[in-house]
Amino acid sequence: MIEQLLNFGKDYPIINIEQKNNKIIIHIKSKKEHCKCPNCGIESYEYHATYFRMIQDTPTHNTETWLKVNAYEYKCNNPECFVKTFNENLPFARRNKVMTDNLVRFILSISIFMSSSSTSLILSFMGVKVSADTIDNIIHNIKIIDRPDVEEVGIDDVAIRKGISYATAIYDLKDHSLLALLEGREASALEEWLKEHPKIKKVARDRANAYAKAISNILPNCIQVADRFHLFENLIEHLKDIFYKEMPEKIFIKNGKILDEKINKVPEYLSNINQEVLSQFDYDNTPLLDSEGKIIEFDNRLHNLDSKQYVKQAQNRKEKQEMIIKLRKRLSRFNCHETKKIAEEFGISTVSLRKYKNMSEEEVEEISNRRVYKKG
Ligand SMILES: [Zn+2]
Repeated sequence: MIEQLLNFGKDYPIINIEQKNNKIIIHIKSKKEHCKCPNCGIESYEYHATYFRMIQDTPTHNTETWLKVNAYEYKCNNPECFVKTFNENLPFARRNKVMTDNLVRFILSISIFMSSSSTSLILSFMGVKVSADTIDNIIHNIKIIDRPDVEEVGIDDVAIRKGISYATAIYDLKDHSLLALLEGREASALEEWLKEHPKIKKVARDRANAYAKAISNILPNCIQVADRFHLFENLIEHLKDIFYKEMPEKIFIKNGKILDEKINKVPEYLSNINQEVLSQFDYDNTPLLDSEGKIIEFDNRLHNLDSKQYVKQAQNRKEKQEMIIKLRKRLSRFNCHETKKIAEEFGISTVSLRKYKNMSEEEVEEISNRRVYKKG
């Protein structure tokens, strides 16, 4: 059972597990019989000595856990190599590192969400002893290794700081390793990168049109795939637009059934008027006509358009119109999945945003004009 849970490979059997000073120490004895020289790459079968390495591993039940590995030192038999002896390389920890690869991954996965000092503090509660400086070092030493021969890549835009700076992440579709992190999310940077990677046959990308264009420009024969996540996001956004257009703002339901027509709410005072009483009044309800026989429309308010109130109103209308024009320009440049963010930025609701977005040019033009309320 323990062997299955704690498996470091057949060449690295566990020979003992002890608990000492609030730490768990797993003793491992290397059974490896050969190793490549890190300098010349020639395999050596000659042991020189044995040595102990202490390597911190992921915690066990919130208890600090260390591997005490008894490993070999080898001789390099290549007379031309300047390396005389070298340490065995372990499959679970890099040379000269005091942490296993698993622990480094564990630390990184937490540090994505918070500062190094917070990560260090939280990890101390979980049974990992690591300083904020060490975490900083780990982050700064992340190497992005590009492979010019890669054939299938995924491209996605990522926020470095949401709403402020973005980057284009390119990763190998086969092992999901990061190949490049390009500044911004414009087509130009991606085009430059694609030129250096002519063997690419398949690209899974997000919905950004800029990426699609860059790929078609540089690698016209490449297959572009929209991944499921982005497809769904796209689909839902479009469905929403359709529903908003097709569905009435209010749906009336009575006794569990949707009514075809909206209920005309009759004000109570009207419904209570006795028709007999009404008929007693004799009054002329026909509209007033001018000398040419046209209906005179009454606007019973005095409008002094130079008054403070009207000047202010005109200014507000102008400002609103400018805001809508700016918003529409902005929307035409960005993806629809950012509408919420843009709405926030403009200080409007997503409903208003959608309304402004769907306005015709004439309607936008109309906003700055004073509305005349017709009285019929
Ligand atoms: Zn060598």
